Amino acid sequence: MSSMMQRPLLISSLIEHAARNHGTTEIISRTVEGGAAFVLHRTTYGEACKRAKRLANALTRLGVANGDRIGALAWNGYRHFELYYGVSGMGAVMHTINPRLFPEQLAYIANHAEDKYIFFDLTFAPLIEALAAKAHGVKGFIAMADRACLEKAIPDSNIRNLLCYEELLATESCEYEWPQFDELTPSSLCYTSGTTGNPKGVLYTHRSTMLHTISGMSPEALNISARDVMLPVVPMFHVNAWGIPYMCTAAGAKLVFPGAALDGASIHTLFEQEKVTVSAGVPTVWLGLLTHVKSNNLKFSTLKETIIGGSACPPAMIESFERDYGVRVVHAWGMTEMSPIGTVCRLMAKHFALSPAEQFKVQIRQGRVLYGVEMKIVDGEGHELPHDGKAFGDLMVRGQWIVDRYFREEHSALRDGWFPTGDVANIDADGYMQITDRSKDVIKSGGEWISSIDLENIAVAHPAVQEAGVIGIAHPKWDERPLLVVVKKKDAEVTREELLKFFDGKIAKWWMPDDVVFVDQLPHTATGKLLKTKMREDFKDYTLPTAS
Ligand code: AMP
Repeated sequence: MSSMMQRPLLISSLIEHAARNHGTTEIISRTVEGGAAFVLHRTTYGEACKRAKRLANALTRLGVANGDRIGALAWNGYRHFELYYGVSGMGAVMHTINPRLFPEQLAYIANHAEDKYIFFDLTFAPLIEALAAKAHGVKGFIAMADRACLEKAIPDSNIRNLLCYEELLATESCEYEWPQFDELTPSSLCYTSGTTGNPKGVLYTHRSTMLHTISGMSPEALNISARDVMLPVVPMFHVNAWGIPYMCTAAGAKLVFPGAALDGASIHTLFEQEKVTVSAGVPTVWLGLLTHVKSNNLKFSTLKETIIGGSACPPAMIESFERDYGVRVVHAWGMTEMSPIGTVCRLMAKHFALSPAEQFKVQIRQGRVLYGVEMKIVDGEGHELPHDGKAFGDLMVRGQWIVDRYFREEHSALRDGWFPTGDVANIDADGYMQITDRSKDVIKSGGEWISSIDLENIAVAHPAVQEAGVIGIAHPKWDERPLLVVVKKKDAEVTREELLKFFDGKIAKWWMPDDVVFVDQLPHTATGKLLKTKMREDFKDYTLPTAS
C-alpha cells in the first residue's frame, strides 16, 4: 500500500502551476489579423489560464464531451495555446492538423479523427471552406478571431455553422474547476505526414505528455527554465511543437509565438525585439534565417541556443551558427510516434578536454536518449548490433511516450515490444546515435549501403549550394548509384565537376555521386523534409552516365 499521494499527471496542472507561480510572465504572439503591420499581441500565463477556463466552459456549453476530438488548423499563437489547455484540460482531445497537407488528406484526417468542432486561424478560411464540404461529421467551425476581424477577412463566407472564438469566450465565466481523471485518458492527437498511404494518428495520453514534458525540459534535453525566452518556430501543428508549449508552461519560460511569418527577417526581428534566448525548428527554417542574417550583416544579441531537428542538421549549419554568431546548436532527433523527442545531442563533461574539432564530431550526431527512452539497433534478422559507432542497423525504441498502436488501428505497431522507427543508425559506446538514413532512402550499391544524408551534408557545405538531395538511381551493374540533385544559392555558380571535386577526400571513393543535376527547387513534405518519394518519381527515367 503506497504511503504517497496519488495525483494524476494531467495537462491542466501545467497551466494552473504557471498561472499561480509565473502569472505575470509574458506570452507574445504575432497574430494573423495584425496583417502586414508588425503588431504583437501580449498576454501572460495568468490571463491565458483564465481564457483557457472560459474556453473549457464554452466547449461544455457546445456539448463537447470527454474524449471528443477537437481539431485546429492554426499557427503558433496565444489562442492556439489556450486551446492546448482548454481542450485537453476539460477531458477532450486536442487534434492539431497540419494545414500544409493536401486538401484530400485534411478531409481524410478530420473524418478519421471524427472531429466534433474545428478551430482555425483566418488564413486558413479557404481550406476550411473546402473541408466543410467534405467533413460532414464536424458540427461547427470556429474562427480564431473577434467578430470585426472575422467579417473583414471572410465577409461572405459559406462555411456552415461558423462561430467566432472571441464571442464564444466573451459570454463565459473564467471560473472553472479542472476535472480530475485517469492520467491514461487521451489528451491529444497528431497524424504523421505519411509520404505514402494515408496519414496515421498517434493518440497521446495526459501521462505520456506529462512525462515527456518533465524529461524534455531537463538540462540533458531542451534545458528550459524560467530564465529563458523561447521562440518555437516548429509549428504547434507538428507534434505539439515538440512539446515546447508544455515545457515552457511547466518552467514558466516567456513564450514568443511567430504566427505565420516564418521568413528570416520576421524571425530575426522577433528574436531581437523580445530578447529570445532559445529557439527550435527544422533545418530549412534556419537556412532562411542564416541567409538573411549574413546578407544584412546582422547578429544575434540574446540568442544562446537553437535546437535543430526534424531532418538531419548539416554540420555546416552547426559550424556557421557557432563560429559566426556564437549560437550553440543542439541537434535532436525524434518522431511523431515518440511525442516526439528521442535523442538530444549535448556534450558530456569528459568532452570538454577535447579539441574543438573533436567536440564537433560529437555535436553533429543526433545525440543520446533522454531519460524515458531506450533504443537499440538491429540487423535484418532482429539481432542486436554493437554500440561501436560503426555497425549500423534498424533503429528500435521503447519508452513511456512512444506509440504502441496507431489511432483506431487494430494491431500493435510494435515488434517484440519495440517500435521500429524506420530509421537506420549507428550508436557509439557513449550512446550517441547518428542517423544514416530513412531505411527507404539508403542507396544500395553493390551489396553495400551509401548514406544519402552524409552526401547531402557534404554538398550543402559548398558555398554555392543552397540545398541538396541524394537519391539512388537504378544501375545495371551496382543495383543503385547516387545521384546528387542541387539547388544553387541565388547568384552563385558552380559546375558539376567542381561539385564532385568537393567530395574528394571527404568520402570513400565508391560513395562518389555518379552524376549531378541542378534544379530550381526540391520537393518537401508538409513538415519541411525532403520528399524523396517525389524525387525518385521525378528521376525514375533518369539514366546515369555510368550506366552504359
Ligand atoms: P516526423 O514524425 O514528421 O517528426 O518525422 C520523423 C522522422 O524525421 C524520423 O523518423 C527521421 O527520419 C526524421 N528526423 C527527425 N529528426 C532528425 C534528425 N535530427 N536527423 C535526421 N533525421 C531526423
